[in-house]
Amino acid sequence: MDNLRYKRVLLKLSGEALAGGKGGGIDPASIEAFSREIVHVASQGLEIALVIGGGNIFRGVSESARGMDRASADYMGMLATVMNALAVQDALEKHGLDTRVLSAIDMKEVSEPYIRRRAIRHLEKGRAVICAAGTGNPYFTTDTAAALRAMELRCEAIFKATKVNGIYDKDPMTNPDAVMFKTITHMEALEKRLRVMDTTAISLAMDNKMPIMVFNLFEEGNILKVAKGEDIGTTVTGG
Ligand code: UDP
Repeated sequence: MDNLRYKRVLLKLSGEALAGGKGGGIDPASIEAFSREIVHVASQGLEIALVIGGGNIFRGVSESARGMDRASADYMGMLATVMNALAVQDALEKHGLDTRVLSAIDMKEVSEPYIRRRAIRHLEKGRAVICAAGTGNPYFTTDTAAALRAMELRCEAIFKATKVNGIYDKDPMTNPDAVMFKTITHMEALEKRLRVMDTTAISLAMDNKMPIMVFNLFEEGNILKVAKGEDIGTTVTGG
């Protein structure tokens, strides 16, 4: 058994993680890779709640910029997260992990409704809980849903999986001299507008002293390393 630092965490996967290198849509090979890791850490006793984004399929804010009503576009974005949740559920279950999809928008044929106490019960029984449809409200993001669910479900940390190694002083994709922070406070992340998560999500995490571990999802073994408390990526804490 690996020695884990956490008992229960919330793992935030953006839609991008499901698209792999393809930029959009759902790429089964990418889902397969991180699902294997999630199942491994769960088998070591980590209770995992997941919040899945939808940006690989639909992002409300971009579509409203192109003329759609923002709330309608956001509801479409939330529905996109349900599709992603079902794809991740399928992959996790193929590897033998029991899961439940809990949706913030009622969709009883494909998921359970999100009921906090029920979600906690599933986690206690060792099932991965996949939270779909974000917060259920337009004008929010799945990052905010991740912060909200992490608090409600009494998770010890948010694991924010990204395509870069951590939080940098500037965008590492376009600036080769960007420097990565090892640790940073929520307040610094807000003040410096570092865009690790949106400001609503970071504020919520800050007010409730919820640490955020930012790490690269595409490096194999990273989920386990973070779960063991290894010093990879950036830790957002305190302040
Ligand atoms: N969304 C929403 N309310 C929520 C969560 C998500 O309206 O509580 C919508 C919003 O339009 C967002 C889309 O769903 O753009 C997809 O979520 P997000 O952009 O957070 O996905 P990610 O960037 O993680 O792939």
